[in-house]
Amino acid sequence: MPKIFSGIQPSGELHIGNYLGAVKNWVALQRQYESFFCIVDYHAITVPYDAADLRQRTRDMAISLLASGIDPSACTLFVQSMVPEHTELAWIFNSVAPLGELERQTQFKEKAQRQESVVVGILTYPVLQAADILLYKADMVPVGEDQVQHLELSREIARKWNVRFTPDGEPFFPEPKPLLTPTRRVMGLDGQAKMSKSLGNTVGLLEDPKDIWEKLRPAVTDPKRVRRTDPGTPEVCNIYHLHKAFSPAATVEHVAVQCSTAGWGCIDCKKVLFESMEVELKPIRERAGEVRSDPKRVDEKLAEGAARAQGIATETIREVKQHMGLT
Ligand code: SF4
Repeated sequence: MPKIFSGIQPSGELHIGNYLGAVKNWVALQRQYESFFCIVDYHAITVPYDAADLRQRTRDMAISLLASGIDPSACTLFVQSMVPEHTELAWIFNSVAPLGELERQTQFKEKAQRQESVVVGILTYPVLQAADILLYKADMVPVGEDQVQHLELSREIARKWNVRFTPDGEPFFPEPKPLLTPTRRVMGLDGQAKMSKSLGNTVGLLEDPKDIWEKLRPAVTDPKRVRRTDPGTPEVCNIYHLHKAFSPAATVEHVAVQCSTAGWGCIDCKKVLFESMEVELKPIRERAGEVRSDPKRVDEKLAEGAARAQGIATETIREVKQHMGLT
């Protein structure tokens, strides 16, 4: 069975943006591939943060993932810092990773510009990413079209290491390919930018329904629909795109007709969306309640996942060291 690896930042509870953009897809893939899903806390420490808060955010993310349907008996779910081989392989890859490529990464340039003092981790972040993927010799990484180029550096590092240390034999590391998946880019309720906690435009996956409605009610719609009698253009409206994510196809069609003929007002439309969201989110909230009520079980699941991951990681490192003349 081909292997896939994917990581998620320990940003606390999921919001519907990262649920629809990544995690819902993981749930669908976890039985089709040998899947490794990792909460990448080592990636989260390259920006200023509070230690106690990070631990809580890591835990909340684990609860959200379990509640969303990630099943530790079908995949390997673990926290990155529980498997220190990730950083060991990252150091090893530092010996083949091209500095020029790292400096050219758009993410590095953007972050470096915003900070007065730039830490090395921001530059070498993609090397750790390559280590994350290659430690498990993952064949594929589930990504949307816009992330394909992020994988290129991991492929290059695999290639360079293979050429340097296994020049005549079978390539030791596979060059991980993108597994193109129908990921959604979910806009925030302000309709201005991608849904993101830092922009305060999110709907939490586990949020109380009352609070969700309070956010949906004033959410931005088609700006040209000023009066109730103005026909709208569904494609330019974020609410319509959320319908596409949560409502059945027949409802989505109905929304498009009602909107473009001014058959209903935006509040009517949002009420239908709210109901569709509840169908999907209510069971997730209930599962989150169950998971949260048994913290020991969460610890056990993460420990089991880390042990399984480490079993593979130690073997990879052992072989890597052998090829490299390390003891
Ligand atoms: S009717 Fe619905 S899809 Fe049309 S503008 Fe209003 S909220 Fe958006």
